[in-house]
Amino acid sequence: MNYSGFNSAPGGVSLLEIAKQFGAPVYVYDSEKIISQYSKLKAAFPGEHVKIKYALKALNNPNILKLLKNRAGLDAVSIHEVRLGLASGYLPTEILFTPNCVSFDELKLGVDAGVQINIDNISMLEHFGHLYGSTVPCCLRINPHIVGGGNTHIQTGHIDSKFGISIHQLRHVLRIVEKEKITINGLHMHTGSDILDAGVFVQGAELLLETAMQFKNLEFIDFGSGFKVSYKEGDVTTDIAELGKTLSSRFDLFCEEYGKKLELWFEPGKFLVSESGYLLVKVNVVKQTTSTVFAGVGSGQNHLIRPMFYDAYHHIENISNSTGNPRIYTVVGYICETDTFGWDRKLNEVREGDILAICNAGAYGYTMSNNYNARPRPAEVLILNGQPHLIRKEECEEDLMRNVLEIEI
Ligand SMILES: *Cc1c(COP(=O)(O)O)cnc(C)c1O
Repeated sequence: MNYSGFNSAPGGVSLLEIAKQFGAPVYVYDSEKIISQYSKLKAAFPGEHVKIKYALKALNNPNILKLLKNRAGLDAVSIHEVRLGLASGYLPTEILFTPNCVSFDELKLGVDAGVQINIDNISMLEHFGHLYGSTVPCCLRINPHIVGGGNTHIQTGHIDSKFGISIHQLRHVLRIVEKEKITINGLHMHTGSDILDAGVFVQGAELLLETAMQFKNLEFIDFGSGFKVSYKEGDVTTDIAELGKTLSSRFDLFCEEYGKKLELWFEPGKFLVSESGYLLVKVNVVKQTTSTVFAGVGSGQNHLIRPMFYDAYHHIENISNSTGNPRIYTVVGYICETDTFGWDRKLNEVREGDILAICNAGAYGYTMSNNYNARPRPAEVLILNGQPHLIRKEECEEDLMRNVLEIEI
């Protein structure tokens, strides 16, 4: 199976060699791919006023954050992500803190750290105004209720979403802002992942721009993310160049109307890092049942949960037998759950001991991994300047026991 998104030697380094050197399972990231995705986005949205805030929840290894430093800022969803960003050398002013349903105390820690606050509910806005008045500016996360395409598990713009302040509550918001003299310096929307249609995106943008006219102190408008990347041959992806053209000219027009050149922000996670990553796994068993041939690998939903959690498709290649006769396999993990990486996949003949590469593992792979079945998390390797670098060790059993307090029983 050829998939143009697959590269057996990203950044000039053989994936098979990496599995030999560092063992499997192992996460591998190609720095060149991350930078080229970043450059693609910058080219589509030219201008100094365009700022990219990388959503680090997708992949938060501090080395990845350093790779993007001096290019992008960050979008953080917890105070801990904020601190990871600060520890990786980002300035507080480069970090947007977009929490949802966190305690007000956590938000205050963000204010103390000096990061840009993004508020996503009315009661929080009231508390914020009470405490800070006009002294600390904040951004508002607006839910424009735009739904279009994508995976229903990960849409955040629909009517009963827990994210954002409904655009229908604008009057209420304006009353609070006026009463507490809050400085609203930004407006934000993030309609959800996997937007297939540039038209839908622009429709949401239009609503946000309309809303923006009601706020006089804006410095930026943040259009969130939702850029869809390719997971398999023939996938429809967001046409970044097209979106760039349409949105940029619409935004320029808005700025003229608004009377001030505002910054235009995006917060891509997946777009920057998904395709850069591979999860390399070793085949432990090939198991023929009455109906299926299973390739059982030494990893599972504990390391990459997206196939089971989102029903996500991840392309798989047998990198240690690339000339073998193709056969149909169902690739499963070793967890005591039905943890299937891929159903009925055509793979070059799989033998016990082979190494499989699971593609698009850069985003929401390692960061969503866990210790289920008392399995350690795998190592992470970054390919940089033609060399593989270990950027996180594999966990060990001591890590699993770290916070356990043994009592007399
Ligand atoms: C998760 C998230 C993103 C990134 O989404 P992707 O689909 O990975 O691009 C951006 N903004 C916010 C607020 C998020 O929660």
